[in-house]
Amino acid sequence: MAMEPKSWGRYPRVSGQKAHPVTWTSEPLPVPPEGGSLLPHGLGRSYGDSCLNAGGSLLTTERLDHFLGFDPATGVLRCESGVTLDGILRLVTNQGWFLPATPGTKFVTVGGAIANDVHGKNHVRVGTFGRHLRRFELVRSDGSRRVCSPEENRDWFEATIGGLGLTGLITWAELQLRRVSNPYMHQETIAFSNLEGFLKLTRESTRDFEYTVAWVDSLARGRHLGRGLFHRANHAPPQFTARQPSPPRLSGLAVPFDFPGLALNRVSVTAFNALHYRMRNQGLMHYEPYFFPLDSVHHWNRIYGSQGFVQFQCVVPPNDAGVAALKEILDRSAHSGMPSFLTVLKTYGDVPSPGWMSFPKAGYSLALDFANRGERTYQLVDELDRLTREAGGRVYPAKDSRMSPESFAAYYPERERFAQYVDPAFSSSFWRRVRGAG
Ligand SMILES: Cc1cc2nc3c(=O)[nH]c(=O)nc-3n(C[C@H](O)[C@H](O)[C@H](O)COP(=O)(O)OP(=O)(O)OC[C@H]3O[C@@H](n4cnc5c(N)ncnc54)[C@H](O)[C@@H]3O)c2cc1C
Repeated sequence: MAMEPKSWGRYPRVSGQKAHPVTWTSEPLPVPPEGGSLLPHGLGRSYGDSCLNAGGSLLTTERLDHFLGFDPATGVLRCESGVTLDGILRLVTNQGWFLPATPGTKFVTVGGAIANDVHGKNHVRVGTFGRHLRRFELVRSDGSRRVCSPEENRDWFEATIGGLGLTGLITWAELQLRRVSNPYMHQETIAFSNLEGFLKLTRESTRDFEYTVAWVDSLARGRHLGRGLFHRANHAPPQFTARQPSPPRLSGLAVPFDFPGLALNRVSVTAFNALHYRMRNQGLMHYEPYFFPLDSVHHWNRIYGSQGFVQFQCVVPPNDAGVAALKEILDRSAHSGMPSFLTVLKTYGDVPSPGWMSFPKAGYSLALDFANRGERTYQLVDELDRLTREAGGRVYPAKDSRMSPESFAAYYPERERFAQYVDPAFSSSFWRRVRGAG
């Protein structure tokens, strides 16, 4: 029997989904059965329920994996929507091109990257993925096809970027890549002893470094609340090409089975954090371990045990209320008895996205991972959602499985305008939840 498609966090579990593989771009969409609905599905690298459709059909895109054109002179690439960021990077980096914005895993599809309008560690400089899109084709359940771009069908273009797969199926897309001299990064890591240290390093780094991100010790409290490691980097300049560090060999490492639920406890997370906090380094690095450190261990999500985990990612404004909310969120998490294994702080800038429903906005973004311990975990995450809302921030749908309908309404002021562009045959478990429809 085929496995029920899951999201990356493996929470919530939903049932009754049918996978409908899309095999060619000009294929008509299937008609969902009475009461059912459709939802495109990439590689399921969203953590919660935005890529799930309980009781409905998932239009899977892994067979839409063809490149349609690449001009090495201009860096314009056209491909089907199931092509992965990994596939693109393998094609273009040795020809002097790179993705303008990339998330922390390369195992996402172009369709998924558009629908969540993903961002990377360089949001301050370049904004989101959608900002670098030239056009794409959108297929609707009524059989209509639209090429969407900033010039053509602009409203559909803007509704679909960050549109959570609800406006129709993207079959192909064209994007503008950015120039690089080689596949290497020049990076450094600096320790900071609390949240103020992070803010100071951010201020000092944004002018000279394109990429910045921080790892935070989620168990540090008191005057060390928010201590961590600040990573900053640029693409290596041409003169470094001669001294190449060897590209990483694919480790082939995989987590073969679900860890026992208690493997991630306060003791193990404290030990890991203490060790990690001592790591400092500087130098040249291949782009893969720099951008995608987690990808070298396949199925790392299994370390959270069979109940899965809940990720919470918010952005708060760059003002006193935002910083106070960050402290409160870190403090609640540190005192919860449920340590976040991976805690990441990033800074977003004010480069606007074309997408009405795009998540990033200027401020500080905090992501925390909690092993799913049932009601205790849900209550904590609900509380973090409330703190974010009160601070004028918002939560990322791609990582979410808990935000309330009230929070969704506060976070996404364009939601009603967007709802008019949702395909009547399309839906998702997330969409029904945040619309208060079960
Ligand atoms: C380790 C890790 C690190 C991550 N780091 C980041 C990060 O730094 N920044 C960030 O922004 N995100 C990050 N993410 C989240 C990830 O980038 C997004 O969830 C991404 O959208 C997943 O793409 P996917 O192809 O797996 O799509 P899925 O998760 O399968 O689907 C995502 C959405 O896209 C829609 N969709 C998929 N294909 C199509 C299509 N052809 N047409 C229309 N809609 C479609 C789906 O309906 C769904 O709404 C991370 C995820 C992981 C696992």
